[in-house]
Order: sequence, then C-alpha cells, then structure tokens
Amino acid sequence: MFEKIVPAPPDAILGLTEAYKADPNPNKINLGVGVYKDANGHTPILQAVKRAEERILAQETSKTYLGIDGSPAYAAATRALLFGPEHEVIASGRAVTAQAPGGTGALRVAADFLARTQPGTTVWLSTPTWPNHPNIFRAAGLEVASYPYFDSRTNDVAFEAMLETLRTIPAGDVLVLHACCHNPTGVDLSSAQWAQVAEVVAERGILPLLDFAYQGFAQGLTEDAAGVLALTRPGQELLIANSYSKNFGLYSERVGALTLVAATPDAAQAALSHVKQVIRANYSNPPAHGAAIVTTVLNDAELRRLWEAEVAAMRERINTMRHLFVETLNEKGVQTDFSFIARQRGMFSFSGLTPEQVKALRERYSIYIVGSGRINVAGMTEANMDYLCSAIADVLA
Ligand code: PLP
Repeated sequence: MFEKIVPAPPDAILGLTEAYKADPNPNKINLGVGVYKDANGHTPILQAVKRAEERILAQETSKTYLGIDGSPAYAAATRALLFGPEHEVIASGRAVTAQAPGGTGALRVAADFLARTQPGTTVWLSTPTWPNHPNIFRAAGLEVASYPYFDSRTNDVAFEAMLETLRTIPAGDVLVLHACCHNPTGVDLSSAQWAQVAEVVAERGILPLLDFAYQGFAQGLTEDAAGVLALTRPGQELLIANSYSKNFGLYSERVGALTLVAATPDAAQAALSHVKQVIRANYSNPPAHGAAIVTTVLNDAELRRLWEAEVAAMRERINTMRHLFVETLNEKGVQTDFSFIARQRGMFSFSGLTPEQVKALRERYSIYIVGSGRINVAGMTEANMDYLCSAIADVLA
C-alpha cells in the first residue's frame, strides 16, 4: 500500500530551519521559526522554570496519569492568568479549563469539540493567519473561511473591511481571533476595536475562539488580555486556546490549555464532558511535567515575580530590536519606510520584502526568512544587526 504514496510537501517554516542548520556561513541569521532568542541568539531555559523544576524533582513521588482534562491546580492557575483572579467567570463557574499539549493541542481539541457538538459550523480565520490554523480545523473535518485583517498599504489592521465581513458571519459560526501579537503580521486590535468586535460577535451570535499564544509579549501579561476581557461579557460564550510555549520558554514540554466559557455553570460542565471525550479518544490525558512547572511558578510569590521579570525582559529585548532595526536601516540609507516595524508587537512582522528579495538574502547572505516576508524579530541581536541591515540595503538597492 505504501508504495503508491506520493510524498507530502515539507513544512515550509521547519524546512527553513533545516537549511539554516546545514549552512556553513558563520554570519548566517535565522529569522524564520518562531522561537524567542536572547542577545546571544540562544533560546534559554528561564530561571523561574529551572528553579521550579528543582522543586518538582525533589518533591514528586509518582508519575501516575493525570485526569483526562489534566491538573485541576493548573486549570485554576491558567484561568486566573487569563481573566484575573477575581473575574466573574471564575467565581460563577462559567469557565472550565482542560490542560492540553501546547497551544496547537488546545486548538485541535477545540476543533474536535466543535466538530462533535456543532457539526456544519464554519471557522473564520484572518487573512493572513498562522499557516497551521487551516490545517488544524480542516483535520477535524470543519470548513474554513477567511476575513480580511491586514492592510499592506498602511501596514496596519484593515479594520473596516474586517468588520464588514464579520457582519456577514452567520450565527453559530466560529471566529478565530489572535488575542495579541498577531502571527504573522505583528498588528493587533486597539481596545476600541476589540470593543467593536465584541459588539458584532454578541449581536450576530458568533462563537469567538481566541488563540492566545503570546501573553506577555506585546505590552504586559495583564494588558495583553484586553481582547480576552473585551469578549468575556455577561452571558457570552467563548473559547480560549492558550500556550505557555513562548512566555515560559517551554516549547518542547507542550503546555497549553483550552478554556471554555459558557452562559451557565451547568452548560460549562456539559461542554467539558464532551471536551474530555475528545481528549480521551485522542491522547487520553496530557503530559504532566510542563504543567507542573507552570503551576509551581504561578502559585509561588517569589517564582512568579522572577518569571514576570523574565517575561518583561524578553518583551523589552524584542521591542529594543524593533527600534534598532529601523534605526540601522535608516543609517544604511534605505529609502523604504520600515518605521511600522517599531510600532508592531510580538515576535513577528510582515517586512514587505518580496519573495525575490527573501531569496536573494538567503543565497547571498545566508539570512533565512519565510517566503511571505514574515520576520522573527527575536532572531535579531546587537551583534548581527549591522550585517542584517547592510544585506537588506543591498537587496533593496
Ligand atoms: N497559535 C499561534 C498563532 C502560534 O503562533 C503558535 C506557535 O507558533 C501556536 C498557536 C501554537 O503554539 P504551541 O507551540 O504551544 O503549540
């Protein structure tokens, strides 16, 4: 049977990393894959994580299974981080959380849950979006559609066009929104725009699904939850898929969660019973170690302070690189206006570089960028900035 199988295309972004690794040029730069890197180009283990792991290793006595929906302490700590500890959805029991293997796992559980409980629903994705979004929802058998999001003339949100499409979405369809640090564009909705989206969602009976993979990377842990909070209105149902891959640097541990907010606590429990069935048939129950780290850090005052400082340092380094990039391109005499890069948030920006320019950067300078022109700003350092900007000046000339 396998003889007849035609190979599937390799993953575009992960394929780029393979090519980067094989490149012998000592000046090579990887602005492709979405992992945070420090000033030395290294993806570190956070101090708060190391210290939590020491405690866990000293104290844990069993590796027995977690429940299907994971650790209750982790679920509670996650909800408190998403909504703030005093929020009505927590006190009322309208919000329930299932631990999941990463943000991707949470999205796939959400997708399977929707396919099971709302068959025939369409999932609306921003144009552009993270390329794995359509894969995940289609794999669960759902239809996907798209709404406009990015205006390449202004390098900002195409808000009027976005609202116009949102006003056509049928009741019961699902609207996927990037809660902050939109991937791949780096442009986010303002508070006023979130309020307008929340209005349309409520009016039309749309189910919002917030993909929250970068809490803390835009403006701050609390500030970045503005979109989540704008949509969490009295009686409003919603789903949140969050990830600790980036803000805890726990990429390989696969730590995320699916949080479901229902109109009533009973409805939340009924929905959770289906989420659990979906998980049981998929991977049975989630891995424990990464979630234990997150729970230990979030529930310990000292470790939490350390973690919050480490998240702030990552965010500030990225924002410093954004400004330095714009300044250095100006110094190199580049005429194209890149000032929007300094206004955008999170690890990614759409650079506006064409596929030809991306190819020239790779072939002439060993600088690796995704074909769409998306750059991972966290791949920039003070040490590689001059080389990077000289190369860009050359391919733009
Ligand atoms: N959603 C978005 C928008 C992302 O960019 C990512 C990771 O790159 C994820 C979800 C998934 O994250 P995880 O690695 O936790 O599965």
